[in-house]
Amino acid sequence: RPALDARGLTKTYGPTVALAGVGIELWPGEAVAVMGASGSGKSTLLHCLAGVLAPDSGAVVLHDPRHGSLDLAGLDAEERAAVRLRSFGFVFQQGLLLPELTAVENVALPLMLGGVERRAAQARAARWMAALGLTGLEERRLGQLSGGQQQRVAIARAQVSDPVVVFADEPTGALDSSTSGEVMSALLSSTRDRGRTLVVVSHDPLVADTCDRVVHLADGFVVRGGGR
Ligand code: ADP
Ligand code: ADP
Repeated sequence: RPALDARGLTKTYGPTVALAGVGIELWPGEAVAVMGASGSGKSTLLHCLAGVLAPDSGAVVLHDPRHGSLDLAGLDAEERAAVRLRSFGFVFQQGLLLPELTAVENVALPLMLGGVERRAAQARAARWMAALGLTGLEERRLGQLSGGQQQRVAIARAQVSDPVVVFADEPTGALDSSTSGEVMSALLSSTRDRGRTLVVVSHDPLVADTCDRVVHLADGFVVRGGGR
């Protein structure tokens, strides 16, 4: 079964049709790149799939082995926030990490928001940091980390709750090409290679090349790559 199965998604902003009836299946163990021109609907699609935004119509069915199946489109904002916390991870170009916290506190934050006690949360966060090659950097603040290190902290944070799907929006957008390659392989090894699903919105051809499948959007439609 797909981890996420979206059908007939539409979303308009006044006269602007951002999504015009999009269907997409995202399977466990695959990495999918979403590409398309600026304004083609990539962010809107990502936000509907991730339960950040409610579509005007259509379904976004999540199959979470731990929590069962549900349609995100039928939930209110508070319920979607709870699903995001327990089933999804997020990596953005920048801005998701809190500069006043240490690296390990940033990684532990989703667990602590989910009610895990501080010491246990930080121990699990430190294990994820080690898996991403960040041992020794636990007590650093963001300003004391390179761009690539900051993105690996963001990946550790996205992973720490063991999400079913990780959503990444231009994760390599602020990085040079060799650092981009490192960040993509960290993303792939911590998600796809562990049987989870990775969805990446990007303009970067390197991202498309390293993913298993590319979904192309144009004017709110999937023009290529929607099914497996
Ligand atoms: P992309 O991520 O591919 O650049 P978006 O999903 O951001 O595309 O936008 C799709 C279309 O919807 C664009 O025409 C954009 O201007 C419009 N749009 C997106 N968000 C809003 C909003 N909050 N209000 C009005 N129009 C929006
Ligand atoms: P833009 O649409 O300008 O490109 P981004 O793609 O970086 O901005 O995403 C910002 C959006 O993601 C915001 O709408 C915000 O509500 C949402 N968002 C940010 N962090 C989280 C999170 N941890 N969980 C869910 N949604 C988030």
